Amino acid sequence: MTQPSSFLGYTCSLCGTQYAPHEVVYVCPRDGGNLDVNLDLAAIRRSPIHPATSATREPSLWRYLPLLPVADPGGNGTPLRAAGWTPLFSPPQLARRLGLPRLWIKDEGRNPTASFKDRASAVVVARAKEIIAPVLVTASTGNAGAALAGMAAAVGMRSMIFAPRTAPPAKVAQLLVYGAQVILVDGNYDSAFDLTVQAAQEYGWYCRNTGYNPFTVEGKKTAAYEIWETIYPQLTGLQHPLCIFISVGDGNIISGIHKGFKDLQALGWIDQMPRLFGVQSEGSAAIANAWKARSETIQPVESHTLADSISVDFPRDGIRAVRAAQQTGGAYLKVSDEAILKAIPALGSAGIFAEPAGAAAYAGLTSALDQGIVDSEDPILVINTGSGLKDVKAAMQSVRPAPIIEPTLIALRKHLEATR
Ligand SMILES: *Cc1c(COP(=O)(O)O)cnc(C)c1O
Ligand SMILES: [Zn+2]
Repeated sequence: MTQPSSFLGYTCSLCGTQYAPHEVVYVCPRDGGNLDVNLDLAAIRRSPIHPATSATREPSLWRYLPLLPVADPGGNGTPLRAAGWTPLFSPPQLARRLGLPRLWIKDEGRNPTASFKDRASAVVVARAKEIIAPVLVTASTGNAGAALAGMAAAVGMRSMIFAPRTAPPAKVAQLLVYGAQVILVDGNYDSAFDLTVQAAQEYGWYCRNTGYNPFTVEGKKTAAYEIWETIYPQLTGLQHPLCIFISVGDGNIISGIHKGFKDLQALGWIDQMPRLFGVQSEGSAAIANAWKARSETIQPVESHTLADSISVDFPRDGIRAVRAAQQTGGAYLKVSDEAILKAIPALGSAGIFAEPAGAAAYAGLTSALDQGIVDSEDPILVINTGSGLKDVKAAMQSVRPAPIIEPTLIALRKHLEATR
């Protein structure tokens, strides 16, 4: 097993027990707590990572290799090297409409398999190469699976994906096209999750599950580094910290972004932490409920939301996700499916096509503005976590259907007059 010398081991997020890299694989053996990866920050501080040199570095998350607990996975010339370093937009019309002079949108739909999940899957694939795990498995509502299938295919590794039979067809199509072995379970995401944990043990597969495999957070934290490199230089002189809106299902993305900023703070590379705002669907709000109750006990819900990527009964990274908002002066917001549907064409009007879970973050921003939780003084970033092409059915629900007319000028004139 080769691993970078900066990877020191793990600390349990619940009981604080420390483990060496070879001692554990997934969660804390004592209490099932999520494990935080420990890095040798002193060694990293001596590494050549610095924004001033960024122009010479790779346009992907691999530009942060010295900050990751994996060795270089290779895969040059493949989509594995294209995960991350997603575009950052500052749409002027949206900013004006919302009365926000400093508004950014980071479009994670532009990852190789079209969601934020590529960050996690890329790093888990790198880890699998190191520990020589020939078969990767994950439970997924769709995107984590597509990301794992795509990243594994890129470097010729095998993947097994378990998804609910109700997953949107575009996501299932991706899994199949990437050549994964796909198993649809007659149940929800939570039941697929439990089955993969058992199956991984039974068959010796390496399990990527979100909020279970400690390397997913390490991949997801790279979004924080990109925000640091691209937005932080624009914040100098501002009193108000950056407010980041993130949609939340299992809570692993918000935990990852929190981890990334904690790393930067520990390295002394940022003075100010951003405030992290988690956005959940009203119908799948176990983490928002715990945050509101100031509790670290996550009560499962029976989730119902059209935003399938954040439809989770029992979030697997709930405690760290509660802390992400609590420790940064952020908050949790709950949004309705109607508000999520409205957010899709709102982002669309700026040329950004989001799937429902991605649009939920924008719906959370509008709700926070309405409630006065944030205002025009605050610099604000919304993360669109997935492409609208992932769920065309929901996209069509969010807009009025197009008219069908006879292909004549007369018919066109009649239509234009009728709808004027
Ligand atoms: C997975 C996912 C989320 C939520 O991430 P968690 O880590 O489960 O909180 C949000 N949006 C999209 C598009 C996703 O695929
Ligand atoms: Zn523990």
